[in-house]
Amino acid sequence: MTYTGRFAPSPTGPLHFGSLLAALASYLDAKHQQGRWLVRIENLDPPREVPGAADSILRTLETFGLHWQGEVLYQIDRYDYYHSILGQLKHKDLVYPCNCSRSALKQRHAIDRYDRYCVSHPPKQHEPHAIRARFLSEKHCFTDRIQGIKKSNPDTNGDFIVFRRDQLFAYQLAVVADDEAQGISHIVRGVDLLQETFAQLELQKHLGFTTPQYAHIPLAITTQGQKLSKQNLAPSIEHLPVIPTLVSALTFLGQNLPPEPLSLSSETLLNWASQHWRVEQIPIDPIMIHTATQTGS
Ligand SMILES: [Zn+2]
Repeated sequence: MTYTGRFAPSPTGPLHFGSLLAALASYLDAKHQQGRWLVRIENLDPPREVPGAADSILRTLETFGLHWQGEVLYQIDRYDYYHSILGQLKHKDLVYPCNCSRSALKQRHAIDRYDRYCVSHPPKQHEPHAIRARFLSEKHCFTDRIQGIKKSNPDTNGDFIVFRRDQLFAYQLAVVADDEAQGISHIVRGVDLLQETFAQLELQKHLGFTTPQYAHIPLAITTQGQKLSKQNLAPSIEHLPVIPTLVSALTFLGQNLPPEPLSLSSETLLNWASQHWRVEQIPIDPIMIHTATQTGS
């Protein structure tokens, strides 16, 4: 099997240390297996996009020596393809319109798992609505390369949105469509996306797509226990010194280091790290990031 991996950031802010861990882990896993490593910008949501963030992310990856193969894929350019996938789901009667508001879902206690209200009460044609895919499988089970055996939860894994009321495609549909189109065989990403995997397995099954192998790395959290994310303004790593930052990222990922790593070039360090990559050494528990890495001081 040929290995194809990917890093797929959303351009909602510059690269922070948590996203560097995901980029580095997916890069090293691909290189260790002589695979290809692709980059996809998941800019499905123009209102949330920060101008210049996509370019800044790509520039930072290059600064850190994480060079990708081929053209960068931008999801915003792929609406025709996503429409064809949605057409396939419609054709197979696997989707239905839904106009439930969040407050209506809350009232019916259907936030965690959708209650299929709109199957029996379809919205009128002219009403703005989302499109939901049916979650038909009783359960899904997969073996995550880091987290072990994971099973879907019937209390939370219900019918999910694939096309939004605001006429934007939902993450679940686009990510499954693009992973298939790009021949992605291995996905290495943050554990915050683990629960999303079950809807993706469901779509892959409906559409006859290949299911990649998954590895979910632990979250980076601050010493206050907060997730390091763009939403809580994790600082950019753009101007941090490259080698010390890579060395601390490798350490957080439980990897061994060559002698005197700080004296190496990023190319030599990454080559060494990819040869000595051990996915089984990645910790399962959240990685606590200390203030120095948060602020770059
Ligand atoms: Zn509904």
